[in-house]
Amino acid sequence: MKFEASKAAALNRLNNFVEKNLSEYSKLRNFDFGPEKRSNISGLSPYITHGIINEKEVIEKSLSKFSFSKNEKFIQEVLWRTYWKGWLELRPNVWTDYLVELNKIREEYKDNQNYKNAIDGKTNIECFNFWVTELKENNYLHNHTRMWFASIWIFTLELPWQLGAEFFMQHLYDGDSASNTLGWRWVAGIQTQGKHYLASEWNIKKFTNNRFNNIKLNENAPPKVSEKTYSIVKQDFSNKNIDDENLFIFENSLSFETTDFQNHKFKKNLHNFK
Ligand SMILES: Cc1cc2nc3c(=O)[nH]c(=O)nc-3n(C[C@H](O)[C@H](O)[C@H](O)COP(=O)(O)OP(=O)(O)OC[C@H]3O[C@@H](n4cnc5c(N)ncnc54)[C@H](O)[C@@H]3O)c2cc1C
Repeated sequence: MKFEASKAAALNRLNNFVEKNLSEYSKLRNFDFGPEKRSNISGLSPYITHGIINEKEVIEKSLSKFSFSKNEKFIQEVLWRTYWKGWLELRPNVWTDYLVELNKIREEYKDNQNYKNAIDGKTNIECFNFWVTELKENNYLHNHTRMWFASIWIFTLELPWQLGAEFFMQHLYDGDSASNTLGWRWVAGIQTQGKHYLASEWNIKKFTNNRFNNIKLNENAPPKVSEKTYSIVKQDFSNKNIDDENLFIFENSLSFETTDFQNHKFKKNLHNFK
């Protein structure tokens, strides 16, 4: 899949998908037919992640073609992203803890051969090596493949999920702190505590349309355990030193012209938060 960086390309992809492929989405979405055959899914995530188009536009477009009941699965998937974002926003310590842990683990694993083989695509698992190359070359992986990849990384290669999440963020065009971190936590079994995702040979064979065979995985690993629990933190964005209305714009909101804010008169004031 090629991702041209423009709003026109995003709208074109959305229109094309809705017209030609949305009707089969719920039936075919779990299949990874290979990098050259991606018409069963929308491929919109890099555009949505960077705010080039937003969830509301995507859902409205789908509802202009089909009824809610015909679209339900697609809408649910689009809203997973919104849900993960809200979940992490309410628990910012999940993100800061992840960064602290990552720093420590990175140091521990910098000379680890098992880790180096994984990120170089030199393991003894053919499908995994293929996906490493695909991720580096195409900057995209199918959703089901992300689940298999993360599961193999954690439970068969026995590597820390934090390093896998970092590897994804380095290469994915749609890299998103919430969907990615929480996706990895979910596969490991610490997002929904005790419920992990175990990749299996039959499932990979079936949903890659028999592109891979003879896949030796640890299909019985227990979920990872984390003692940490996170309660909701109420954020206070008010700034008593400034009387005017304030607007935060983030680098992943690239469609300011389509928001409701465009007619407000905000004072220009650029902060670069690091
Ligand atoms: C370990 C792991 C890491 C992931 N990392 C990211 C990430 O960094 N950025 C990201 O955008 N998505 C991530 N996802 C979710 C999902 O894999 C991608 O959003 C999806 O593959 C994008 O392809 P698409 O646009 O063709 O999806 P479609 O199937 O066409 O879905 C339409 C849209 O719905 C949203 N969506 C679909 N499935 C999910 C999901 N499971 N979670 C959240 N949103 C979803 C996306 O915005 C997507 O563009 C991750 C999933 C896993 C299991």
